[in-house]
Amino acid sequence: MTNGHPLRLYNSLGRRIEDFVPSGDVTGMYSCGPTVYAYQHLGNMRAYVFADTVRRALRWKGIEVRHVVNITDVGHAVSDADTGDDKMEVAAARERRSVLEIADSYTRVFFEDLKALNVLPAAEYPRASAYVPQMIEFAKTLEERGYTYRLPAGLYFDTANDPRYGELAQLHAEGQREAARVEQVKGRRNKTDFALWRTEEPGRRRVLRWDSPWGWGTPGWHLECSVMSIALLGPHFDIHTGGIDHRELHHVNEIAQSEAFLADGQPWVRYWLHNEFLQLGGAKMAKSAGGAPRLADLTEAGYHPAAFRLFLLGGHYRSQLDFTTGAMDAAQATLKRLVARVQPLRPLPAIETLEEAARTADPAGTLDLIDAAISADFNTARLLAALQDALRDPRITSDGQRTLVAAADALLGLGLADLDPADLEDRRSDASLSDQERHEIEQLVAERTQARKERDWARADQIRAELDARGVQVTDTPEGPAWQLR
Ligand SMILES: [Zn+2]
Repeated sequence: MTNGHPLRLYNSLGRRIEDFVPSGDVTGMYSCGPTVYAYQHLGNMRAYVFADTVRRALRWKGIEVRHVVNITDVGHAVSDADTGDDKMEVAAARERRSVLEIADSYTRVFFEDLKALNVLPAAEYPRASAYVPQMIEFAKTLEERGYTYRLPAGLYFDTANDPRYGELAQLHAEGQREAARVEQVKGRRNKTDFALWRTEEPGRRRVLRWDSPWGWGTPGWHLECSVMSIALLGPHFDIHTGGIDHRELHHVNEIAQSEAFLADGQPWVRYWLHNEFLQLGGAKMAKSAGGAPRLADLTEAGYHPAAFRLFLLGGHYRSQLDFTTGAMDAAQATLKRLVARVQPLRPLPAIETLEEAARTADPAGTLDLIDAAISADFNTARLLAALQDALRDPRITSDGQRTLVAAADALLGLGLADLDPADLEDRRSDASLSDQERHEIEQLVAERTQARKERDWARADQIRAELDARGVQVTDTPEGPAWQLR
């Protein structure tokens, strides 16, 4: 069983479960990356943890992957219709910083978050601004082939020329749902037509601007993913991932322009994988300035990034997940229990593939359960359950458990080999108190001691209740009162 179960995945193109069959020695994989005009929130990060799960599953099967994730630092307009200002420029004006500074700082935080979430680094993280000349060449080719028309607003792709337009979104079957979101652009022939180039309005000079055959301006957002993926992965590649919101519009347009450009009658990309949303509505967590909670908010509240990863993997990537502090508490507690069980088994063997894991015996058939779970459209929840069962199974020796933990974690990426249990301790530690808070607590404790000395029990009880509300527990010892956070 070197390769185990066939890897089955849900292809958005056709909306069905299929066997994954790589087209060559190296599987090309492209994931739509962040627009670096703001912090990525927790919902955004789900897409990268999902792409990482796909990569780990392919590695498990012995399939080599070349993964590319783009950084959008130009071209993403404020509205879905490719009209209005560039998101980067709006952010620069809001924060009174240059576009370059904005892009650099949010890109840096994005990389830090990926690292904290134990996401395997991609082979390339191309920046859109570095590919504008190639985007212009790409658009020129489409224009020469008659796929486009010019408007004062820029160069537009004529979707009526593409008989397969919208196949991914099943636009014809489900009705043109995209149409409702798109505002009117003067002269646009079809409501699904989109901008390849956005020419700047007369008298409104943009900060980010390039010269082109269609005047000074910026590329359309969809263009960058086609151009950069083809530049770095070749004309055709196997897997394209992204959030479910890209399935109806962005990816539809990527396909239309790429197939028009390649003109070889082949589907551009064979497998399209989309992760569902993370619902943040129910979250009681304080929101960061200007948006939904992000990873830093979680760590500040005392959660480990691996607990967020475990929370995500506890659901299926094609199901919506509700983010709540209760669910995070449960994830952190589960992780804590897992680490407590794994700690006596350390050090764990280095295992990345099924082949490596299968060199040892398959204790109680668990390896097969793990492989079956990941092969069934990346069922990480089932995989997690199999691991937990195995750790409680008295038939499995310590050596067997070592292999299973290492094998499961090669897919889950929780970092079970070296997660420090101390990092998963109670949500708030004394060290997180500010000097001011510490001072106030110590003053209250001293006042309580004084009240007790004066036999003012009512006052002493009142102070204890106040400390209690702050999460402070006071213990009276022979050396005097001691306090700690609960
Ligand atoms: Zn994209």
